[in-house]
Amino acid sequence: MSTSVEPVAATAVRARGLGKRYGSRWALRDCAFDLPAGRVAALVGANGAGKTTLLTVLAGLLDADEGSAGAVGRVAFVSQEKPVYRHFTARDVLRLGARLNVVWDGDRARRWLERFEVPLDQACGRLSGGRQAQVAFALALGSRPDVLLLDEPLANLDPLARREVTAELLGEVAATGMTVVLSTHVVAELSGVADHLLLLAHGRLLAGGDLDDLLGRHVTYTGPRSDVPPALGGVVEARHSDNQSTFLVELPEGRPRPVVAGPWVERPPTLEDYVLAQLGATRNEAGA
Ligand code: ATP
Repeated sequence: MSTSVEPVAATAVRARGLGKRYGSRWALRDCAFDLPAGRVAALVGANGAGKTTLLTVLAGLLDADEGSAGAVGRVAFVSQEKPVYRHFTARDVLRLGARLNVVWDGDRARRWLERFEVPLDQACGRLSGGRQAQVAFALALGSRPDVLLLDEPLANLDPLARREVTAELLGEVAATGMTVVLSTHVVAELSGVADHLLLLAHGRLLAGGDLDDLLGRHVTYTGPRSDVPPALGGVVEARHSDNQSTFLVELPEGRPRPVVAGPWVERPPTLEDYVLAQLGATRNEAGA
């Protein structure tokens, strides 16, 4: 008889009891998670939730005040400002990358710039914000990171470029097995891209884990105006109009999935449904 053992992916990024404060105010508190290698994690949360702080700690640019956090292997971080030297051309930036990085893949960096039609010989300061961002991505990818940390990578990009960047990033993940953590406010554009979620609220990790698992434990019910959902579960969000109610419910663990009858209609929540419901719930609690 042979037994097969599911391979367990190694952890690429880990936090344990992580806390970081600025002066007396905690920006992060009690954060704990394991992100397996090869995943693409969406780091989401309201303004000021602590996303940039978490990425900066993971990048090793800020020390934790409590607990620990770290990433395994070579780490590249593209900050929100995506700084590039204004007087350098993209070609100069790649030369600098070759000098500064012990491991450097110039072809990979150049391919990224060609893919996004970034001129190599124009001063970066004269490139559009979106193209400057592409130079910063190329520099990061050229360093062949095992873990790529991106703070709001889609912010300066037009809608088509956003789609292309996310698709190209997925291609890079598939080709290299690198792990990506990217913070964003444009959650809808991450469905089909992210397979892991880190959801921060007021510096704490509100939800985290494999996205299929997380979304699979939730269901959205829509039906006639009602104060309660048609099946048992934890109500994450309830929305009502005059004659209709919609509930996002966390299904109870260890019980068979409930079957609801018409007129109620159920559907799986999207990543955006789930994130907005969770953020709405924390805002209501904070305001209560
Ligand atoms: P956003 O979505 O607006 O970029 P964020 O989730 O990235 O926000 P952070 O920038 O990490 O959040 O900020 C978390 C908290 O820490 C906020 O309350 C912020 O005001 C505070 N903070 C961030 N940087 C500093 C700093 N250098 N000095 C003092 N407080 C800071």
